[in-house]
Amino acid sequence: MKNDTIDLRSDTVTKPSKEMLDYMFSAPVGDDVFGEDPTVNELEAYAAELFGKEAGLYCSSGTQTNQIAINVYCRPGDEVICSKEAHIYKYEGGGIAKNSGSSVKLLDGDRGRINAPDVKGAINDPNNVHYPITALVALEDTMNRGGGAIYNPEEIKRIKALCTSEGLPLHLDGARVFNALVETGVDYRTYGGYFDSISICLSKGLGAPVGSVLVGDKDFIQRARRVRKVYGGGMRQAGIIAAGGQYALKNNISLLKEDHRKAKELERTLNACSWVESVLEVQTNIVVATLNPEASVDKIVGQLAEKEILVMPFGGQSIRMVTHLDIDDAQLEQIITAINSLR
Ligand SMILES: *Cc1c(COP(=O)(O)O)cnc(C)c1O
Repeated sequence: MKNDTIDLRSDTVTKPSKEMLDYMFSAPVGDDVFGEDPTVNELEAYAAELFGKEAGLYCSSGTQTNQIAINVYCRPGDEVICSKEAHIYKYEGGGIAKNSGSSVKLLDGDRGRINAPDVKGAINDPNNVHYPITALVALEDTMNRGGGAIYNPEEIKRIKALCTSEGLPLHLDGARVFNALVETGVDYRTYGGYFDSISICLSKGLGAPVGSVLVGDKDFIQRARRVRKVYGGGMRQAGIIAAGGQYALKNNISLLKEDHRKAKELERTLNACSWVESVLEVQTNIVVATLNPEASVDKIVGQLAEKEILVMPFGGQSIRMVTHLDIDDAQLEQIITAINSLR
């Protein structure tokens, strides 16, 4: 890929900054499978502490943190309740079935955000032998397929209260949880209290090259550590990459607001285009536009690529653009000019 390509396909495409790289190269390291990598230990404790949790587990990806959490909670034959648009169901290679032998109860939701009454209706009666045992409820905030939609914290509270009364764990796929929290302003620890476990991605908008952290109570993380090993996820001198994540958590959360401002500008630009039918209201850094029935996704994606701007086809007549740390204001202007020139 050329250097001046503007890549809006995902917020995973960012490259580590010079400051982040310096921090990584100077990080103290050790054998993390022995629990002796000081940088990994610091990152795990820091991430856990942010959300008021007892412990953390550094993993290679958000898929791994999610799949580990599911495996801790679910036995073969159990069932997970989630949105039909959930990453854990749609984009993790069938991992719920493959890794944990569990099935899913998929809810429609609003832009992928499910609600307490629907969750309640989806919980199976454990005394009826016909049904799989409901073992887990999982939310995603922000919601990727929902165009970066943010959950109403009040709805999360209602779902948590329901899970507590039903004795069910509540997991959060928080790949973009900081995108939600910088907008809602909800206190991290209060928010952390709504979930039994949270998976956070360091390699999305926060700009680290690798990794996710799973946080929860000590017992949960101890079990998760065993599953990570079984999945081949025990890493050795991982501090060198964990340091990028630590740098990202300490320095880059507040920068997400900038990504959101830029995404809003793209929303306004697209809404004014004759070839665009609608744009999902932008709440964070993801812009999903549905093109007119006569317009061609391939053609639009191709025309933008000719101008060295990469966007992602997002199913049907939709395209997705994601703003991130490596898009500056000059590039934003270039994108807007390019979009306006399309016919
Ligand atoms: C990116 C993402 C993940 C994790 O993806 P990895 O590429 O495995 O790190 C999980 N959930 C959501 C919603 C995501 O967008």
